[in-house]
Amino acid sequence: MANNILDIFNPATGLKIKEIPCDDESSIQIKFYKLQEGQKFWKTMVLSERIKIIQNFSNLLAKNIEQLALILTSEVGKPLQESRNEVNGAIKKISFFIKESEKILKATEVNVDGTTHEILIYDPLGVVVNISAWNFPYLVGVNIFIPALICGNAVLYKPSEFSSLTGLEIERLMFEAGVPKNVFNAVIGKGEIGEFLLNLKINGIYFTGSYGTGKKIAEKLKSKMLPMILELGGKDPLYVTDKVDDLTQVAEAVAEGCFYNNGQSCCAVERVYVHEKVYDAFLEVFVLATQKLTVGDPLNLKNTQGPITRPVHLKFLQQQVDDAINLGAKLLCGGKQIEGKGAFYPPTILINVNHSMSVMKDETFGPVRGIMKVKNDEDAIKFMNDTEYGLSAAVYCKDKERARSILDSVNSGTSYINCCDRVSAYLPWSGRNHSGFGSSLSHLGLYAFTQPRGLHLR
Ligand code: NAD
Repeated sequence: MANNILDIFNPATGLKIKEIPCDDESSIQIKFYKLQEGQKFWKTMVLSERIKIIQNFSNLLAKNIEQLALILTSEVGKPLQESRNEVNGAIKKISFFIKESEKILKATEVNVDGTTHEILIYDPLGVVVNISAWNFPYLVGVNIFIPALICGNAVLYKPSEFSSLTGLEIERLMFEAGVPKNVFNAVIGKGEIGEFLLNLKINGIYFTGSYGTGKKIAEKLKSKMLPMILELGGKDPLYVTDKVDDLTQVAEAVAEGCFYNNGQSCCAVERVYVHEKVYDAFLEVFVLATQKLTVGDPLNLKNTQGPITRPVHLKFLQQQVDDAINLGAKLLCGGKQIEGKGAFYPPTILINVNHSMSVMKDETFGPVRGIMKVKNDEDAIKFMNDTEYGLSAAVYCKDKERARSILDSVNSGTSYINCCDRVSAYLPWSGRNHSGFGSSLSHLGLYAFTQPRGLHLR
């Protein structure tokens, strides 16, 4: 493993843009021991001081946004404006932790029993590992490393091999903000480096990535009984009922939910069900909304769609399209890799789909979507629940009671009424079934990085 180099490619051009050194077992051991030492000091700092440092980090994100956005676009290929949006979104999430942490983490006297004061205290865990994904490295990263640091933990942070330049920028800005070098460290490398981190005597593991990798991590760590959050994939359904005011507006919102970041979002709309009364009219405006999207150079601000981040994934997208067509689906647009340099695949719509097809069962994580007609709400609920995942589910309906009652019957960690594909720092972000377990964000996403202690004070 020693002295390995990680090649960084630009998916829009296919060209190598950088070679960076990977960590190896010995460099990771050294980082880990230093973090164990650093955490002893970090946890004793007054909470407001740690929060001040996180505020500095957030300010540095804002100050460096153009440079950070360019780096992000160069390695993951998302349109430049989406990269800027992502950094701004991370700043917004961080502001929740800055504003709310002191209130949430405050030691609380919960009871007085005679002369005994009963006090609830939130201690940090120690050194925690954060293994992260490439699709929104800032947005999914701050869910974990910001509250982990605020709570007094040290963090060993492994960015994805597809967003390692961004990971190194995050580390650089953490140090510039005042996070000690023995409190936050990035480790660089592919999956085997992530696997090695699991051998360390860590105090918590926080993983964002695919179900397959999450399962391996959970299996490997089961006997260690560590605090763990697994934020995994999704196959998120959206149902358009027959009670919507403006079908064009709905279609535009659904197209964005399906194709933002090329559909490479954990909570992207991956399956669309439409009530039979509005099915034909919806299809018409949905195809129009999709055809407005423009695919090409992500640095050109006119383009809404960049390349697929991992070129190897193009094969899987094509397989899903071919499988659906072989089983009777009809292609309305897209359906074939765009020729020329770079890994470009157009937004693709399939109809006449059913649940025997991979496109309606397996996470696509790219711009291919199936649209299915349903007879009524019961039908929609049945199909929405027919999945191994459970991250988010959306219903468009102007009767909010009806939408609420549909979503109360759908098993997912997040429900959306008349919106989709959004995350708020004020609400828990939590998957069910193959979408993972544990909650980040909200007050739960702070407690997730602590261990409670009951103090009996007489
Ligand atoms: P991935 O599982 O391929 O990799 C994630 C991370 O795990 C990477 O850093 C990788 O190097 C590391 N890794 C790979 N094998 C490992 C092993 N055996 N042990 C330890 N670490 C290992 O996922 P990805 O392609 O980076 O991300 C896409 C997936 O992440 C999608 O399924 C997406 O839905 C999911 N995701 C979920 C959320 C969420 O909040 N639920 C957010 C973003 C992405």
